[in-house]
Amino acid sequence: FDQLRALDPQVADGLITELDRQRSKLQLIASENFASPAVMAAQASVLTNKYAEGYPGKRYYGGCEEAVDPLEQLAIDRAKQVFGAAHANVQPHSGASANIAAYFATVAPGDKVLAMSLPHGGHLTHGMPINFSGKWFDVVSYGVREDDHRIDMDEVRRLAREHRPKLIIAGWSAYPRQLDFEAFRSIADEVDAVLMCDAAHFIGLVAAGVHPSPVPYCDIVTFTTHKTLRGPRGAIILTNEQWARKIDKAVFPGTQGGPLEHVIAAKAVALKEAMDPGFKEYGQRILDDARALAAGLVERGYRVTSGGTDTHLFLADVTPRGLTGAEAEARCDAAGIVLNKNAIPFDTHPPAVASGIRAGASCVATQGMGTAEMARVAELIDRALTGAESELGAVRAEVGELVTAFPAYPQAGPVPPT
Ligand code: PLP
Repeated sequence: FDQLRALDPQVADGLITELDRQRSKLQLIASENFASPAVMAAQASVLTNKYAEGYPGKRYYGGCEEAVDPLEQLAIDRAKQVFGAAHANVQPHSGASANIAAYFATVAPGDKVLAMSLPHGGHLTHGMPINFSGKWFDVVSYGVREDDHRIDMDEVRRLAREHRPKLIIAGWSAYPRQLDFEAFRSIADEVDAVLMCDAAHFIGLVAAGVHPSPVPYCDIVTFTTHKTLRGPRGAIILTNEQWARKIDKAVFPGTQGGPLEHVIAAKAVALKEAMDPGFKEYGQRILDDARALAAGLVERGYRVTSGGTDTHLFLADVTPRGLTGAEAEARCDAAGIVLNKNAIPFDTHPPAVASGIRAGASCVATQGMGTAEMARVAELIDRALTGAESELGAVRAEVGELVTAFPAYPQAGPVPPT
């Protein structure tokens, strides 16, 4: 770091500013986490220099045998072991890239796809009209029921029978409940569709054994490595023998060039961390914390969609407090609480305004906060949302106390004052 500071103080200052921001505020963005120093060490390594198009043992570049091949194979073997999968591709640069490859392997432009609607919790790559998925495929969407905000599997079956999709996607970015993988499998079998799960958000909970695994039910499982799994930014695709070759060809040369071997090494580290018995405790702490935080807001009169959560995240309607999601996000940020505005099912506001907030417990659980701290965080969020402007400073000071008691990256020294 000293070399970086000497060469490029602007970038060095930016890194310090971001480290301070991450440590001095309460991080509740559901898709984020604090990767370990070991994960970051692998990512910030000489492997960034190496081209390695192809796969272990079958590269288009020399110089891969000594380190790159064994490291990529290690990441593959660990991914297969952690999730009990027959085949793993560890090269996708991101969750969106993994999904592009999954589409590339399974469907052709114009084909029908059945996936979760974006306003009800799906991801951009599940058929948003201006995303490649919505532009190139004929995407039919399923959503949640209005009364309990849960996916209606009868409706999924009805849509599948009516539209006969070639690909069905189970998975979400903002849905607080577990999916019925068995029902998805039976629907896919009935209409002869490929079943893919986009497990980007909850895969860390699967690795921890506190959430059902999609692997036994799905042909293809894509996931990001940087959310609940707490690894580097990137993604992995798991599949069976039947789809293995097609998935590998779809990633390279289908949709990507050279793999990021430094990131792949960091994925291997994260998977090793996920095999540690402590990761099971971590997964349980995430669930307990998310439930406690959601319950704390329900107690204060907030409407949490579906009434709670079985995962690391939940959505709360802030309109009963006279706020939009965008206003709530801004007020929380001013009070040192970082979360995001989010559409809630059947939202009447446009997505950039939204009626809800989305909060997740992956970061606070990494910091070691438990349910007692979550009760306090619920109170702080409520005060940030409903208190006078002058209250925001008081909340900010209490956030400072909390993050000082549970520092992210304790090895970086004291948390800077807010
Ligand atoms: N799939 C789901 C369900 C996601 O929630 C996300 C990211 O939030 C992605 C895919 C895309 O991941 P990335 O941002 O790494 O492209």
